[in-house]
Amino acid sequence: MTYSIAIANEKGGVAKTTTAISIGAALVENGMRVLLLDLDAQANLSMALGVDPAVVRKTTGSILLEYFPPEQAVLQTGVPGLDLVPASSGLSLAERYLPIRPNHEYILDTILKQQTWNYDFLIMDCPPFLGAITTNALTSADLLIMPTQAEFFSISAIRSMMTLIQKIRSQSNSQLAYRLLLTLFDRRNRIHRTLSEQLRAKFGVGVLDTVIEVDTRLRECPIVGLPIIYHSPKTRSALQYRALTQEILTNVKETAPQPA
Ligand code: ADP
Ligand code: MG
Repeated sequence: MTYSIAIANEKGGVAKTTTAISIGAALVENGMRVLLLDLDAQANLSMALGVDPAVVRKTTGSILLEYFPPEQAVLQTGVPGLDLVPASSGLSLAERYLPIRPNHEYILDTILKQQTWNYDFLIMDCPPFLGAITTNALTSADLLIMPTQAEFFSISAIRSMMTLIQKIRSQSNSQLAYRLLLTLFDRRNRIHRTLSEQLRAKFGVGVLDTVIEVDTRLRECPIVGLPIIYHSPKTRSALQYRALTQEILTNVKETAPQPA
């Protein structure tokens, strides 16, 4: 059985794409077979793995809009065991045309469930808005990871995410689990410390123990086209993304899903 993780937040720049690649690579390091799905028309995930979205022909857009067989859209990346279905700008059409179809929130899930591939994990990098694509991803996911900064505006974005989770659970995926992940964290910043304490008080086990701190080496990764654990294996964020992956494998995946 493939375990499916959606990485989503309506806010941009909170490390969704960085988290998708970093967890994907760390899972591979643990012997897992991983498929990354780039579900953002900006194609940052594809670009960060050295794929030029202007030249790829078969994409997540082809899957969603033309029912192109996903296994034929899979690309290998520079990391053996870490595969990718890329995105291109054409994916933006999906926001407009998916909702016209009946039961559109199940389209991605239905296509993915028909596959016979043997990936252990599927990781979906979602766009920074809560439209048809994110709804499709959350309908298909076992787990939603919400990267979030300990900043005032990020906290208000969490409120709309929570509303969406309730909607998805009541309409199309009653089993959806979620976890908040603190990213771009600065321990010396008093506001960061205060807001993170408030989040833990409010959401309890809904907040992952592992925190990803600010690490400028992460900004180099898209340039070299490699995940952090390969680009700079001993840097702080590489260790933190490895710890996060262990936490997901041991605490999150194996336990009953929900904080309510
Ligand atoms: P999103 O997908 O949510 O828009 P990205 O993963 O693209 O966010 O990250 C936004 C920017 O922040 C990128 O330039 C990325 O390299 C950088 N970044 C992500 N995480 C960290 C971190 N822990 N420390 C420093 N820079 C980071
Ligand atoms: Mg992104």
